[in-house]
Amino acid sequence: MSQEVKKFKRVLVANRGEIAIRVYRACAELGITSIGIYSKEDRYSMFRSKADEAYQLDPQKGPLDAYLDIENIIKIAKMRQVDAIHPGYGFLSENPALVRACEENGITFIGPDKEIMYALGDKISSKKMAEKANVPIIPGVEHAIKDIDEAIRVADMIGYPVMLKASNGGGGRGMRIINNKEEMPKEFQEAREESKKAFGDDLIFIEKYLKGPKHIEVQVLGDKHGNVVHLFDRDCSVQRRHQKVIEFAPAFTIPEKTRKEIFDASVRLCKEVGYNSVGTCEFLIDSDNNPYFIEMNTRIQVEHTVSEMITGIDLVQAQILVAEGYTLDSDEINIKSQDDIHCNGYSLQARVTTEDPANNFLPDTGTINQYRSGAGNGIRLDGGTAFTGAEILPYYDSLLVKVIAFDRTFEGTIAKCTRALREMRVRGVKTNMAFIMKLINNPVFKSGKCHTTFIEETPSLFD
Ligand code: ADP
Repeated sequence: MSQEVKKFKRVLVANRGEIAIRVYRACAELGITSIGIYSKEDRYSMFRSKADEAYQLDPQKGPLDAYLDIENIIKIAKMRQVDAIHPGYGFLSENPALVRACEENGITFIGPDKEIMYALGDKISSKKMAEKANVPIIPGVEHAIKDIDEAIRVADMIGYPVMLKASNGGGGRGMRIINNKEEMPKEFQEAREESKKAFGDDLIFIEKYLKGPKHIEVQVLGDKHGNVVHLFDRDCSVQRRHQKVIEFAPAFTIPEKTRKEIFDASVRLCKEVGYNSVGTCEFLIDSDNNPYFIEMNTRIQVEHTVSEMITGIDLVQAQILVAEGYTLDSDEINIKSQDDIHCNGYSLQARVTTEDPANNFLPDTGTINQYRSGAGNGIRLDGGTAFTGAEILPYYDSLLVKVIAFDRTFEGTIAKCTRALREMRVRGVKTNMAFIMKLINNPVFKSGKCHTTFIEETPSLFD
């Protein structure tokens, strides 16, 4: 097999919290030394001590900007002679400027090439690419709307309700539902201003608003030699304010025909752009089971775990190995073809956060004065923030621990996840654990038939 492989000895992980630990672990398993970074505010956080080495970022930058300080991160990377940088999710993970800085300094970026990131990184360009690859997209326009007149014209053409979306939006932010012409001027103006502030530009586009669709996504993996496979799908329909709360794999309630369609479409899109890392193609599925591509995420995602559980493939290791130059069919990755990837059961992930459901999910902060985790057969916990004595900081994501269950049946994953949550104790800060238990034991959830509006339409979850 002819392939150019550059094995990494040292990898810097440009992130914090659970995903930083997840990547350090994959590095350790591959015999790679992990280099961590942390903000001054994070100096007592657990993740820092799980890296083989860790360095403090610029304390002047503040708790968030420290992790976005490309210059300083590259400086540390060079000082510690790292071969590669893993960006995790969030922060710099989809920022081509980091990829460029890596290239200029002879460091490998563990993710897709910057040209691919540009082509797929924002929602407008990824929809354009999808259209080119003959992947069905939601009716709308694939360019930034220039003024209110155009917004009204386009919305009239598509038909209300429509959605205004910030091309660079993320994390469920930067989306507005517009029900009629009268709402448009004010909403369009506000959407632009908000996007400029939150995402750095005011590129807004319009698409048809689908009522209560399912959110189904396909996990893909490509190497640097043109090979692409998928690792089946995930159902991420259970959301709050467009943000995922529970994810499961496979998406077993979708007809096989539709599933095959989105697997094929995702692989086709990745082949079209030469996608060469892990990534996710996201689709909305309407009530007639028609799939519509919405965007591609060019990073490892929070919910990658459930795909790992059902296939037995370690996605973070695979991501590092393809960045080193290994082909999918190499002995190291050992995926000879798509037929080598099997779905061996069901997996469910619950995101335990320090949000208080009784108080509009406001994130709680303070000291955890008692922490006891769940464990046992079929339970995987990806965390690293929670321990007795841990300080929950107000600056960061409220994710405390991901409780991931695996079983031969979907009902089995619910039973295991519920049991693990009942074993857990978190005292000192509020959490959403009781809410999650109620949610996953709701009959609609148990049937696998939740839609994206399930939480807001089910007041009994809050009783
Ligand atoms: P983000 O990048 O912020 O996660 P996405 O484009 O992935 O945003 O969309 C997040 C969620 O918003 C979707 O899962 C869905 O619930 C909702 N959504 C997005 N676009 C539409 C649409 N056109 N119609 C209805 N819901 C939508």
